[in-house]
Amino acid sequence: MNALRPSTLSDSLYGRVSRVIPPFEWPSFEADIAAILRLKAERNAIILAHNYQSPEIFHCVADVVGDSLALAREAANGDARVIVMAGVHFMAETAKLLNPSKTVLIPDPQAGCSLAESITPDDIGLLRQAYPGVPVVTYVNTSAAVKAASDICCTSANAKKVVESLGAPRVIMIPDEYLARNVAAQTEVEVIAWRGRCEVHEQFTAADIRELREAHPGAIVLAHPECAPEVVAAADFAGSTADMIKYVGARRPARVALVTECSMSDNVAVHYPDLEFVRPCGLCPHMKRITLGKIRHALETLEGEVTIDPIVAGPARRAVERMLAL
Ligand code: SF4
Repeated sequence: MNALRPSTLSDSLYGRVSRVIPPFEWPSFEADIAAILRLKAERNAIILAHNYQSPEIFHCVADVVGDSLALAREAANGDARVIVMAGVHFMAETAKLLNPSKTVLIPDPQAGCSLAESITPDDIGLLRQAYPGVPVVTYVNTSAAVKAASDICCTSANAKKVVESLGAPRVIMIPDEYLARNVAAQTEVEVIAWRGRCEVHEQFTAADIRELREAHPGAIVLAHPECAPEVVAAADFAGSTADMIKYVGARRPARVALVTECSMSDNVAVHYPDLEFVRPCGLCPHMKRITLGKIRHALETLEGEVTIDPIVAGPARRAVERMLAL
């Protein structure tokens, strides 16, 4: 394969993101991007980027993009020795659970999540005491230790299916209260919720949606199910980040609002220059801890390796794999 000259490579990469990154910002990214592309080849590494990552990461250095589960699954298919997770810590742990023999790096180990931090394995023990025999369904946005204390995992895309797969009249669904309430509204199964919230999605209100519709007539509103039930009810469609992307691709609404993290609209807009994206978004401070500079540093030093105690990894992997088997 002919290697591209640096300037040609940079021009071609900038062409991908010129709609969402102004020309004056681009030079500040070029050196890190060139170094990361070289280091990936040297290290036999791949970069997984969540849909909430900034466009210069998502479109210019990532090998696999998607939601947390799609990222972990895809990583398991390749022959890379090193996986860099451009996402938050629980996503890196899930990637490690599904790829135990690979080196998994998180460029900033402080990249957390308000949902993952809202619950501990001891809390699950207390819930099991309070509701004996009731199965525990755990959202993937949790630590490996919490997954290990659970019966099965779910994502926002498959939560209803997972809840109903257990054949139980009631389930405990942790940690996202709003996701649990949104699922409860769609199923006969009684859902016992925890009090965790996503600090980004809990900010949106039904009044925000009304104002958005007034300001942008005809906009189709897509909301993430981590939003409050009244926000979901006010939207035209609710679904995971992957479901939102599918919706936009299939229906191509002329004017669309993605009620979720800010970078998601930028990343999707790159593919649909003919659609107007209204941006009623919130920034996730944890996702934004990941930068090109930190990815480069992780690849240079192999610092930030994610390890999971084998006592935790076994049951946590079983909870994830039980979901994948559905
Ligand atoms: S957007 Fe919400 S759920 Fe996602 S990582 Fe940030 S705090 Fe966690």
